[in-house]
This record gives sequence, C-alpha cells and structure tokens, in this order.
Amino acid sequence: MSDHRIRNVVIVGGGTAGWMAAAAFARFLNNGYTKTILIESEEIGTIGVGEATIPPLITFNRMLGINENDFIKATQGTFKLGIEFVDWGGPGERYFHPFGFHGHDLEGVHFHQLYLRERKRRVMQDISAWSMSAVAAQHGKFARPGAEARAPLSQLLYAFHFDASLYARFLRHYAEAQGVTRLEGKVVDVALRSEDGFVESVSLEDGRKIEGDLFIDCSGFRGLLIEQALKTGYEDWTHWLPCDRAIAVPSTYPGQPDPFTRSTARSCGWQWRIPLQHRMGNGHVYSSDHISDDEAEKVLLDNLEGEPLAQPRRLTFTTGRRREAWSRNVVSMGLSSGFVEPLESTSIHVIQSGIAKLIALFPDKRFNPVERREYNRQMQNLFEDVRDFIILHYHATTRDDSEFWKRCRAMSIPDSLAEKMELFRAKARVFREGFDLFATTSWVAVFLGQHVVPEEYEPAVDALDEDRVAAALEQMRQAYLDCAGTLPSHGEFIARAIGGGGGVGGDGGAAPFNFATGSMA
Ligand SMILES: Cc1cc2nc3c(=O)[nH]c(=O)nc-3n(C[C@H](O)[C@H](O)[C@H](O)COP(=O)(O)OP(=O)(O)OC[C@H]3O[C@@H](n4cnc5c(N)ncnc54)[C@H](O)[C@@H]3O)c2cc1C
Repeated sequence: MSDHRIRNVVIVGGGTAGWMAAAAFARFLNNGYTKTILIESEEIGTIGVGEATIPPLITFNRMLGINENDFIKATQGTFKLGIEFVDWGGPGERYFHPFGFHGHDLEGVHFHQLYLRERKRRVMQDISAWSMSAVAAQHGKFARPGAEARAPLSQLLYAFHFDASLYARFLRHYAEAQGVTRLEGKVVDVALRSEDGFVESVSLEDGRKIEGDLFIDCSGFRGLLIEQALKTGYEDWTHWLPCDRAIAVPSTYPGQPDPFTRSTARSCGWQWRIPLQHRMGNGHVYSSDHISDDEAEKVLLDNLEGEPLAQPRRLTFTTGRRREAWSRNVVSMGLSSGFVEPLESTSIHVIQSGIAKLIALFPDKRFNPVERREYNRQMQNLFEDVRDFIILHYHATTRDDSEFWKRCRAMSIPDSLAEKMELFRAKARVFREGFDLFATTSWVAVFLGQHVVPEEYEPAVDALDEDRVAAALEQMRQAYLDCAGTLPSHGEFIARAIGGGGGVGGDGGAAPFNFATGSMA
C-alpha cells in the first residue's frame, strides 16, 4: 500500500500567522514523518501590528504547553478583560464589552432578560456592573482565576495584549526547538504542477528551490501563493466597513497599564489604545474617502497620552476575505486569507481557528476535496460572523456629526445582521449558532451600548417573581464589587507573574474556548 501521508509542509511567511502555524504543527504533527519548513524574509519584515487578543488564545498557549507567565514576560504582555468603547453610541458616551458573562441566569432565564425587565421598573446601573471582568477592569484589578476558583471570580475571563514582534520571536524559539526549520530568503517564484495547478515548489532569490506537499501561505496582505500564484479571488466588504487605512504609533506610558483595550470613535474612524508593560500601542483606523492621511495622522498624534516613541507607520488594507481560504494544496492563514479591521481584536483568533480547523481536517497527498470544502465553509462562517459583529458597531450609532457616521448609519447591512438586530429589538433574543464566535454577553454589551434597545423582554421572564429577582440582582452586583476589591492591581499582578512571585499560577487558568468548535464561552 502506498504511503499518502504529507511529508513536507512549507510555510511562507514568518509573521504572527507563520509562527503560530509553525508552533502548532511542531506540536500536533509531531509524528516523526511530517517536516515543517518556514521561509521568511527579514528584508520584507512583518506588519508589526496585532497586539490585542481575545480569550481563546489562552487555550492556544495551553495546547502548546506554554507557561503563561513566561509568555507575558517574553512579550512585554499585559492582561485584557475586555474593550472600553468611547464615543461609539454617541459623543460623550462609553460602554464596556467584557469577556465572560453578565450575571447568572435564573431558572433557565437569561440574565440580560431579567436585567431588562428590572430596568423598566427602576433606574439601573449599566449592565457591565454585573460582569466580573468589567468590574475588575473598571478598578484596574486583575487576578487569574485558577481551576479551583469559585463564583464570582470564576466568571473573570481574560485575554492578552502583547508586543507583536516579541510574540513572533517567542513562537519562533518554541517552533525551532521542536524541529521546525527556518529558511531566511525572499520567495521570487512559485512553480505550479502542469497536471492540476497545485504548487510544486517555491524558489528563493538565491536560487534555492523548496519543494512541498502542502503550502501554508502566511505572506501577509500580498497573498503570494493563494492570490499571486493561484488567483483565488477576494470578496471585498468595503461597502459595509469603509475604513481602509490605519496609522500606528507607540508612545510612552507612565503609570500602571489598564487591563483593557480602549477604542475611541473619531469623526472618520476610531483610535485604539493598547497598554503593554513598556509602552502604549496606538493607532487610528479610518476611511480614506473621508479624511486624508495627513489629517488622520494629526488626529492620532493630537490624541496620544504620552510622547511618540517612533515615526507613525501608515498601513493600507481592503476589508474582506479570500474566496477560498484553502485552494488546491495551499491554505492561506493570517492577512493572506482576509482581513476584518481590528475593532474586536479578532484577526489573531482567526489564525488560531484556521490552524485548529486545518489540524482537524489535515489532508493527505490525495487532497480529498471534501476536506477542503468543509474547511472553506467553516472559515467563511467565521469571517462572516466577525464581519457582522463589527458592522454592528458602525451601523447602530446615534452619531451624525460627520459624513462618515451618516453613511454608516444609513448603509444597508447584511441580512444575517439585520435578522439578529430585529430579534434583539423585539424581545432581546440572542441565539448562537454552530461555530459562532461571539457569545450572548458580547452581543448584548454592544447592542445595549449602541442603543439597540428591546421593546419588550421574553414572556418567560414574567414567571419569576419581581422582588425576588431584584434582590438576586442586587446580591450579584455587590458580589462582583466585593470580589474586585480583594484582587491585586493589574500592575501588581504582572510584577508577581514575571518576577516569579508566588500565588499567581501560570498554567493558563480556566479554558474558555473549545478547540474543536472555535467558539468563545
Ligand atoms: C492596523 C492593524 C491593526 C491590527 N490589530 C490587531 C489586533 O489588535 N489584534 C489582532 O488579533 N489582529 C490585529 N491585526 C491583524 C494582525 O496584525 C495580523 O493578523 C497578524 O499580524 C498576522 O499577520 P501575518 O502573519 O498574516 O502577516 P505579516 O505580519 O505581514 O507577515 C508576513 C510574512 O511574510 C513574509 N513574506 C512576505 N513576502 C515574502 C516573500 N516574497 N518571501 C519570503 N517571505 C515573505 C514577511 O517577511 C513576513 O514574515 C491588525 C492588523 C492591522 C492592519
């Protein structure tokens, strides 16, 4: 019987996508047979942004056996409990999209339904007062809930901020130590097999020719294999997400890092603020139809809290997705597979999810088309799910202070999002299907934060006694507050974690992510 197993996997590109894939393959294709080679070009470099993440990355680290404290130390990392949105619902407003949960469901009724009924009876605090992560973030507190943690601390979910270049370096050490071969060089040619158009080899500038059975295109926006060689095609979503440029600049940051990302809406886009241990990451994402690059740079620099530490870097992108993430024997990952802007820090997660799905559907040399189709279907769902969630932030706003916001408010939206909004507006219902990434908490936080207010609540709520529910809600709110009061400050926790201090754990804590389905808790 002939051996159909994949022998050589060639990864083109050594940014976050390339090294995440290399590290995962080193760990999960460690069968003594399959070899992984990664080609990268220092001269071309990486995009150098991508510093905020979502909770599933905890599981990625754990699956690789990475100690979380080592990871935080090596990447100048901090912890992230969610995103604070400033001026999004309307000028002067703010709301918090936390990781984790809002409150506890009672007798099978969703917490947010109970909260909404109570809000009809009296003036209530913002729903984030019922989130462990949000309350801790508001007080600048953090602790990693160990596996033994009890409620309410067990409801605290987190992710990370890190320095993108240090993260790639960290994973490179890991992958090389596990047997991945790194080749320095620039790919200048891609050879296709005459019989079926599969990629046969790539050639480097110095004449070396690298053959492979499976190629992973991690070459960034240029899509060297998936697009330039295979002409797979791109679905452009700019009509829904008009931002197409970004300017990034690091700055000084005195004081303790906040345990959350901040996103502040601007007149033609928005600005990110990502606190690391040694600096602040900042960027302005904007629509070039509405503001010039020079004006956008001025907006960014005028709104820095500290001093810039480098020249601002200008980036251009087209929001959308590659029509097929996997074509022939090429699987694209990272920016080569598509890009939805970083408003909810989802791109690194899409890489992680792509890796998990590829490992679950790993082909052999016969490349059964059903595996490719299934992979592409799942990746399409993921991209569209992220797309809809991001569009919601732009569309559901009361802002009308610029042409940009007027356009976002008036634009037509995908049917899938329109249905979700209608369901919520009617009776506050949120349903999560299949591999949907965002859980009820996420949708509810953004709906309420951006004025998608339900007319009624679910009828089942009225089966629960009003006074009893009111008392339970008050008890929960107080429990989150009390618990936050007992936690160390975020800065103290980091100091202990990277200083090897006791009592902070380091194995990654609770796993809020299902590696097989790719969904958040
Ligand atoms: C403005 C902006 C902000 C972002 N913020 C976030 C965020 O907060 N959170 C998040 O999750 N994601 C974010 N992202 C996305 C994130 O940056 C990417 O998903 C991530 O960095 C992966 O990039 P990559 O590895 O695909 O590409 P790149 O970093 O561009 O790497 C491409 C690699 O390919 C190599 N290469 C290219 N051509 C050749 C060639 N001919 N020969 C050899 N090697 C070659 C390069 O040298 C490099 O190593 C952001 C993106 C942008 C544009």
